[in-house]
Amino acid sequence: MRPIQMVDLQQQYQHIKPEMDAAIQQVIDSAAFVKGKQVETFARHLEAYTGAKHVIPVANGTEALQIALMALGLKPGDEVITPTFTFIATAEVVALLGLTPVVVDVDWQTMNMSVEAVRKAITPKTKAIVPVHLFGQCADMEEILALAKEHNLFVVEDGAQAIGATYTFSDGHKAQACTMGHIGCTSFFPSKNLGCYGDGGALMTNDDALADTIRVIANHGMRVRYHHDLVGVNSRLDTIQAAVLDTKLPHLDDYIAARQAAAAYYDKAFADCPWLQTPGRSAHSTHVFHQYTLRVTGADRNALREHLTAAGVPAMVYYPIPLHMQTAYQDPRYTRGMFPVAEKLADCVLSLPMHTELDEEQLAFIVQTVKAFKK
Ligand SMILES: *Cc1c(COP(=O)(O)O)cnc(C)c1O
Repeated sequence: MRPIQMVDLQQQYQHIKPEMDAAIQQVIDSAAFVKGKQVETFARHLEAYTGAKHVIPVANGTEALQIALMALGLKPGDEVITPTFTFIATAEVVALLGLTPVVVDVDWQTMNMSVEAVRKAITPKTKAIVPVHLFGQCADMEEILALAKEHNLFVVEDGAQAIGATYTFSDGHKAQACTMGHIGCTSFFPSKNLGCYGDGGALMTNDDALADTIRVIANHGMRVRYHHDLVGVNSRLDTIQAAVLDTKLPHLDDYIAARQAAAAYYDKAFADCPWLQTPGRSAHSTHVFHQYTLRVTGADRNALREHLTAAGVPAMVYYPIPLHMQTAYQDPRYTRGMFPVAEKLADCVLSLPMHTELDEEQLAFIVQTVKAFKK
């Protein structure tokens, strides 16, 4: 059996090595390492894939979120609502821009932002909602968008984990993650579902004016060279990374299918384990399984993790501490116990190996090792 990894990027590369090596070599030969033609080519291809009118590549997913909030013209003191059970990036950029992060609890089944909690958190200072499509399935976008419309708020999707996930609205129309809010942000960090060989990210929007502002902000606030209209940043996707992504994009649907097949295997295998809860599914979104995250409700999560590690099965806790309990984000408004679902999840979640290269032998071994923990 091949060693089991959380994410197996070596094996994935081996399957596309000739095309990948050629694409990277082409960039090196051209020496257009910044703003090479592959960057725009990839952006157009990702627009075609997602249905977004504009894709603007940037240096990473965190900067995509920062640029999004800058483009919306938010001012210090404006409140931005985000889930407390997520990766730090969202709250981080809110804080960096002098905005006020307002965190809300999540749903136990989908682990995504609770719409009821968002409704209760809206104040006259609220300017934006940042739903995170956690672990690969979209938050309740129809309800979030309706709430935003009612209160005249912006919606910025954090789709770093959910590229390719499809949301179905009640009228039957479908839209992909990152294309439903005013702006969608994604990450091409290597382990993400569409990952490059370094850092990368993108913003998506269907709004021409916002797209223009985003492009200007990401390029030093500059429309005409050395004329700076806005305070901007320098955030670019390297040409080599764009070439890597453009080579992987045609394989993304197969990659998603491989993740979903592994998830289906896990679901079936764990159906008879009352001490584990398999990932709950949204009624409206497909799940692209950036992570396959169990809730260990009838056993000691940390002991299970140690048991797995000792047997050669990596397992990770995403995420062990909710935002409102992080040292850097201490806030007198928030105390332990205020967000019981997020706090309970932080204590019981365990993500199993999930990637495009898991074979039956590995999956069987992982399942058998998990089950051996509690007979
Ligand atoms: C990965 C990730 C980000 C940040 O992306 P980077 O490219 O690493 O900056 C933001 N939000 C979520 C939910 C993520 O998983």
